[in-house]
Amino acid sequence: MTMKVPTNAAPWRDTCPEVVLSHLQLPAIDKMPDELSYDVAIIGGGFSGLSTAGAAARAGASVVVLEAADALAFGASGRNAGILCAGINMPITYTPKGSPAAALWSATQGMLFSVLAEAKESGCFLDVKRIGAMALATSKTAAKRLERETKARIAAGMSAELISKSDVDRLAAGYLDVGKVIQAMMLPDEGAIHPWTLLATLANKARKAGAQIYGNALVVAQEKNSQGWLIKTENGKRIQCRGVVSAVGPTIDTTGRIFALSFKTDVPDTCPVWWDANPYIYYDFRPGNGCLTVSGGRYGSPGTDKLDRSYHEKMAVATRQWVPSLAHEQPDYCWAVDLHVAADLLPEIVVKGVNSLSIQGLGALGVLPGIVLGQQAGAQITKDILLKSSMVST
Ligand SMILES: Cc1cc2nc3c(=O)[nH]c(=O)nc-3n(C[C@H](O)[C@H](O)[C@H](O)COP(=O)(O)OP(=O)(O)OC[C@H]3O[C@@H](n4cnc5c(N)ncnc54)[C@H](O)[C@@H]3O)c2cc1C
Repeated sequence: MTMKVPTNAAPWRDTCPEVVLSHLQLPAIDKMPDELSYDVAIIGGGFSGLSTAGAAARAGASVVVLEAADALAFGASGRNAGILCAGINMPITYTPKGSPAAALWSATQGMLFSVLAEAKESGCFLDVKRIGAMALATSKTAAKRLERETKARIAAGMSAELISKSDVDRLAAGYLDVGKVIQAMMLPDEGAIHPWTLLATLANKARKAGAQIYGNALVVAQEKNSQGWLIKTENGKRIQCRGVVSAVGPTIDTTGRIFALSFKTDVPDTCPVWWDANPYIYYDFRPGNGCLTVSGGRYGSPGTDKLDRSYHEKMAVATRQWVPSLAHEQPDYCWAVDLHVAADLLPEIVVKGVNSLSIQGLGALGVLPGIVLGQQAGAQITKDILLKSSMVST
């Protein structure tokens, strides 16, 4: 079966409430004076940059976010697969004990709970569903690995349990072909988020705390001077700031191409997110928003769309193997994003200079790590610059 679907379209625009779309709009920096001054400038308006902005503004800094696109949702944050899961891009059993990466496991778990709680607040348009996630083992080796991973997660204070093939069948209400499943690891707190509703929520929190967010503000230079940093945009604006945080995300310096697609289909409400625990396959399947969204698999080469069709076809075939009711269906959305990815990529905040931080390493799993690191970077940069000014005034 050959596919006839437009590529490079994710389902998020079509499934996003109008009110949320309006919060993603940005004033263009072109209309602003040529010289601007703030305590903290943040380059990039994805999950990490917007979280940095909120934290810095709440800590008392005057804050600007400079976003290259003319609206929010054009980076990785606006084109991801919408799986909300704790942790980083490696099994907890591989994460070195006591390392900053291990600390991110518990921090993202905490952030997961706070996102779930926030979504319950009245008037909140954050679209998140705690449907759980299951890693499905179809081989004895994968089943053994899941046993170890489940134990390690429980030891780290996270919720995880081994469930049987019949449990999987019951949760998926007959939607999945569970014939090859041996056992599964169930992560009950995880689920699906509409990424644009999260971007709009983070942007509004930053705005409420006083941050300004401008679009059409591609940063082309960052120069040290006596007052801190001078940031220059492509359209000739000069922003003087005392501290700067780079949150330009993983679509810069790309090393691989990640693929995703969505079928418009009704998935039973109880069906969790799932993925094949065999590490050589690793497609992620995310029900929600009237679609089954699939991402992952092998990375392609960045900078070319020549192989997109064959990657998407393989992904569609893998989906139909799990979901027999899609046997004669074509995906309704297919997209691909060039990304900076590597097997040993760890999310981190890197000090680039005096009062200059960079949030890096978010790769293919970065929703919760991006928010956690953004909040840490915002608090840290504000503390650093305010500490300096109190030392000057005493
Ligand atoms: C297809 C796909 C599926 C994914 N699925 C998931 C998933 O299900 N769950 C999950 O947790 N993670 C997922 N991820 C990863 C996740 O989306 C990213 O890790 C996360 O969005 C990174 O956030 P960020 O804010 O660092 O970067 P971005 O969202 O990329 O934000 C960076 C922003 O900086 C702007 N920018 C860049 N350069 C400049 C400049 N010079 N001047 C001004 N602005 C600039 C960009 O326009 C962009 O808006 C997925 C990623 C992709 C691509």
